[in-house]
Amino acid sequence: MKQYRPSYYKDFRCIAGACSDNCCIGWEIDIDPQTDAFYQSVGGDFGCRLKQDILRDEHGSQFILKGERCPFLNEQNLCDIYIHLGEQALCEICTQHPRYHEWYGSIKESGVGLCCEAAGRLIFSQDSLPTYEYVNIDEESSDDIDEEGFDALRAARNYAFELAKQHDWSALLSFGEELQDALEWEDWEEIRRLAAGEITLIPTPNTSVSPNALNQLLTFLSELEPIDPQWPALLQNICDKLPDVLAALPAYKSAYPRWSDDMDQLIHYFLYRYFCKSLFDEDVRSKTILPLVACIVVLLLNAETFLRKGSFALEDQIFTAKQFSKEIEYCTENLEALCEAFWDPDFLLVRQLNALLLQIFA
Ligand code: SF4
Repeated sequence: MKQYRPSYYKDFRCIAGACSDNCCIGWEIDIDPQTDAFYQSVGGDFGCRLKQDILRDEHGSQFILKGERCPFLNEQNLCDIYIHLGEQALCEICTQHPRYHEWYGSIKESGVGLCCEAAGRLIFSQDSLPTYEYVNIDEESSDDIDEEGFDALRAARNYAFELAKQHDWSALLSFGEELQDALEWEDWEEIRRLAAGEITLIPTPNTSVSPNALNQLLTFLSELEPIDPQWPALLQNICDKLPDVLAALPAYKSAYPRWSDDMDQLIHYFLYRYFCKSLFDEDVRSKTILPLVACIVVLLLNAETFLRKGSFALEDQIFTAKQFSKEIEYCTENLEALCEAFWDPDFLLVRQLNALLLQIFA
């Protein structure tokens, strides 16, 4: 089997004790059956600890958090399982996180997720948009997929990368609408034709953006299940002072000239990670909207940060992207709810995305 991944993937290193966050705090950590069987076989004092601190029920096994912390995260923020049993004893999630994977027959697409600050630093420190590489891996191909469909969607994703790079938001959104029709009919030939640039631009109203659209988006996000209990209040705070936050955007852009490059990385990341999953869920339209909505929310977080601190740096960019990623991307229910909202005709932002992005990137 081959792994397809951004070229920076191999450079990822967890910074462990130096991490200001830590993926062993605040998350439920499921243990895969194979690792759990090994944990049950460990003897001695550490084996007792493993038995005590793991919950096993009909849903599977997971670490029993102490407060918000993994019970094996010690006071130095280092992992006691790693220390006592070695790296090979970590469960699948702990070994892989923040690497993500999707299996498409004989190809496994992988990357590193923005919910981790070391991954964010890697992504936002690139000088240009990522290139990709194939690597042979010792893994069996997964179940059969529609190879023709996958190839067509990959071609479409490459075209979406190009449109996003050119900041042609109108074309990207029109592309998503047209692809959706073709995908529902599994018309791979039509998808290839669209991916070759033969799209029809859907006229978008050239009106100024209503703040109601942003208020509605922020309120919607603030009502989803939070990972960090502070997240809804942060969004509500941005809502309450939206005119000030929007007015801070130009100053933030001047103070942080690489903002546009960072947004290009962010949009590209979301396109790469989610676009081809539409082969399974048949919703490619949302996969073109999600990266743009992510960009807008992160820009609002950035402007709010600038307003509060009077400055903005790469650290802040890594942090705000991580916030959005953790709260939305890394909660399946939240991500699904947001993508579902894109189909609601009363969800104002979708119709105003083009105008809003044109204003922001002007
Ligand atoms: S969030 Fe990233 S850098 Fe921090 S502990 Fe987890 S994998 Fe390591």
